[in-house]
Amino acid sequence: MTIDVARFRGRFAPSPSGPLHFGSLVAAVGSYLQAKSQAGEWLLRIEDIDTSRVQPGAADHILRTLEQFGLYWDQTETYQTQRLALYQSYFDQLRQQQKIYGCDCNRARIQSLGGYYDQHCQLRDLHNEPLAWRLIPGQVADTFDDLVFGDVKIPAAICQEHYSIKRRDGLFAYQLVVVIDDLQQQIGQVIRGADLLEMTTRQQALCALFGQQAPSYGHLPLAVTAPGQKLSKQNHAADISNQPLSASLQAALTFLGHPPPADVCGAPVIEILQWAVANWQLSLVPKTTEVQLSSLPGSACPR
Ligand code: GLU
Ligand code: ZN
Repeated sequence: MTIDVARFRGRFAPSPSGPLHFGSLVAAVGSYLQAKSQAGEWLLRIEDIDTSRVQPGAADHILRTLEQFGLYWDQTETYQTQRLALYQSYFDQLRQQQKIYGCDCNRARIQSLGGYYDQHCQLRDLHNEPLAWRLIPGQVADTFDDLVFGDVKIPAAICQEHYSIKRRDGLFAYQLVVVIDDLQQQIGQVIRGADLLEMTTRQQALCALFGQQAPSYGHLPLAVTAPGQKLSKQNHAADISNQPLSASLQAALTFLGHPPPADVCGAPVIEILQWAVANWQLSLVPKTTEVQLSSLPGSACPR
């Protein structure tokens, strides 16, 4: 049955807004190890749906960097910008089912509401584009069982919001396409950064609206420079391009609660990865949403 093949299939889904940095390496390594330690496939999806944030050349750079680390993906990598017809068919389905409505509210109005949309346009029956399209999300649970954190509680405002699945500029929203891709690629376990923790029950509910079973979700701590500050390209600590590959990989593994022992430390990345596949346990990953990079254990080998 397909579900068995997909049970441990994972994926890494970087947005090509810049080169792979330490934070994205952590997500790549964690998702790779969770899949490979269970003999699952690991797919690569370039999340280039938001074309305004795409940096030319970044996707290729990410592919080459993953290869340098020995993080080889299964199947051919996919690009969201090549799957617009698929997304459109799911969008049309939601529209036929009257689960979405057009909205012409501007950003300033939504900001004045405190960031969460108030359903202002639900009964206005707007049809003249440009419009954002918002989902009536149905029952969104306020808790879920995370593979890393266990029981996680989600703020009610996030569960109840009629969020946008297609933007006013015509681009499909991340929130829609990530769910379609995870379903269509039969991903069994989504392992990703904790910045998406609170989006999980929305995504589970959207899977249910499409009549399909959601994958399991597990979230990895996020490398930050200060509370709430994700690593950016400008951040030197995040830049892995000037470090030996084995040092970056060791630092990522240490970050994920798996410091390599002295006898694999400093070895070629392929050997370090082999050790990690054999020793990976999701239960060793720190159950914390953020780790400040300055407090990171270094990549130096134990003596
Ligand atoms: N593309 C997202 C990012 O780079 C990840 C989405 C996901 O893993 O669900 O942050
Ligand atoms: Zn509106």
